Amino acid sequence: MKDFYDILKVSPDSSLEDIKKSYRNLSKKYHPDINKEPNAEEIFKEINEAYDTLSDVEKKSIYDNRRHTKNIRFDFTDGFFRKNKNMYDDMFGSWYKHNQYTEFRRKPKPKGENIKVQLELSLDDYYRGKKLRLQYKRNIKCKHCKDDSKNYDFVPKKCDVCVGSGFLNHNNCYICNGVGYVKIPSCTYCKSTRLETVTETVDFNIKQYFDPYKKIVLKGIGHEHKDKDSENGDVYIEIINISPSELGFYVDGGSIFKAADVTLVDCLLGTTLNVIFPDGEEREIEIKAGTRHLENITIEGTGFNIDGRRYASFLKINQMYPLDINDSQKELLLKFKEIEDSK
Ligand SMILES: [Zn+2]
Ligand SMILES: [Zn+2]
Repeated sequence: MKDFYDILKVSPDSSLEDIKKSYRNLSKKYHPDINKEPNAEEIFKEINEAYDTLSDVEKKSIYDNRRHTKNIRFDFTDGFFRKNKNMYDDMFGSWYKHNQYTEFRRKPKPKGENIKVQLELSLDDYYRGKKLRLQYKRNIKCKHCKDDSKNYDFVPKKCDVCVGSGFLNHNNCYICNGVGYVKIPSCTYCKSTRLETVTETVDFNIKQYFDPYKKIVLKGIGHEHKDKDSENGDVYIEIINISPSELGFYVDGGSIFKAADVTLVDCLLGTTLNVIFPDGEEREIEIKAGTRHLENITIEGTGFNIDGRRYASFLKINQMYPLDINDSQKELLLKFKEIEDSK
């Protein structure tokens, strides 16, 4: 691990002002346009790398933490431990605990962002399953970036305003802050975000009787992360709507329904209906005598599959009234009325 404080010739408790000041002096001294020593450019890059970390509060605290952890171990193995052999047990105990702790706390690999996709399916898809092809936009590592092992995202370019001197009318140049150069992205294609966007196609299967509330996860094909040693994000597919099937099944309030026309007389006397479901199964449904208009007949185990349980679907009765009644039917109805009235 490079010692950024050493590189910038400041102590770890220096203020940001001191760090800036030292950086300004050093970067002027080693600027490749001024300093013709063969290693000047390398040192200049190191100075910038160090400044990039130490001038950023978040990066600095991560760096300080790592630096601190490393020093504890170093002191222990090469110094303290060897001089105090009789403290072996104590030290071993704490070293072991410390090690376990850092193992446990080890930062996971950086991961690219997940991609969310919303999908509309039909009840035919629910009952039969479906093969789908999805096109989506995804960030991948920029192929135009040069070797990024050193992470030099920005390269120095001589400041156009002060022509590299750092001064304008005896004041610090307002463009480069007196440094004499400005930072420009080393990759103009991705502006050094190290990511580019591509259109991707993926084929996947929607399972028969899928859980409509569960997101479908396609692992590892989400956005890539810019870092070399990183994991890809995932694709999350959310089903936001399920449209009716060709056979007239529809979703209402989270359940599956189908309307069924049943004559008044069948409703009064009871009957059985053969209903074909979109999965191709034909089921015999009993309509009990005295079934009313708009009554829902429960068909167990044929509805949605939620959290591993298959719920019921419903047949909604649409009672059909006889429209043209002939004389003999009328005669029977009058007889029917007569009996009803005398009850
Ligand atoms: Zn790039
Ligand atoms: Zn300038």
